[in-house]
Amino acid sequence: MDQPRFLAADEPPPFRVRNLEGASPFLFVADHAGRRIPRALGDLGVSETERARHIGWDIGIAAVAGLVSDALDAALIAQTYSRLVIDCNRAPGSPTSIPEVSELTPIPGNVNLTAAQRTAREREIFQPYHAAISATLDARHNGGRATALVSLHSFTPVFKGAARHWHIGIMYNRDPRFAHVLMKLLAQEAELIVGDNEPYAVTDATDYTIPVHGEKRGLHHVAIELRQDLIESVGGQRQWAERLVRLLPLAYQEMVAAATIRPA
Ligand SMILES: [Zn+2]
Repeated sequence: MDQPRFLAADEPPPFRVRNLEGASPFLFVADHAGRRIPRALGDLGVSETERARHIGWDIGIAAVAGLVSDALDAALIAQTYSRLVIDCNRAPGSPTSIPEVSELTPIPGNVNLTAAQRTAREREIFQPYHAAISATLDARHNGGRATALVSLHSFTPVFKGAARHWHIGIMYNRDPRFAHVLMKLLAQEAELIVGDNEPYAVTDATDYTIPVHGEKRGLHHVAIELRQDLIESVGGQRQWAERLVRLLPLAYQEMVAAATIRPA
């Protein structure tokens, strides 16, 4: 029996793709790129000012991701809906999957949800997004194409009153190879403060995308956080996209070369 639809027929699909057949080894994903809220949920009881803050989405990352995807001819899959609806980088059912409070802001529309209400968000927003990533990775694998998964995020310069001084954070969990080479290259850039698993680290408890799509498949992967005030303007977005377009292929080549050297 068909479930009643949660997203209306005239609302956008839960993910956008770009350059899906691109020649690059990179698959870029952006779990928090969008800030739409399905009409069925109203405004979740949260003001427009609050919804436009970092608690609603990763400010600036959709534009940077699009520029990088186009410049490298690399596939991009980006989420359309706000992380306040369901966080696509959390395991469904985890405490922060559908947050009742984000940073210090209460989210009334996420309180006392029924199982059916939770399931609808998972079924129509979380699952199709991750199914698209899985299908893309399957197709690339079956086609014999090498893939490195790059997860793009942005972070607020001030969280719960504490300022963050990093310009960019490089994150990893069990496999630091891509991250370490990329950090080494970033360290050569002038006046850049690079976070090593800061301001966030990838963990099984706080992440979904890298553990599930990167680690479980044994793919090369890295997660990148850009500070939001640096990518709010078009100029900043271009500058950071240019840097990633320049450094990511270098890091990938160096990492693959190192990974294929076997002891005699
Ligand atoms: Zn994010």
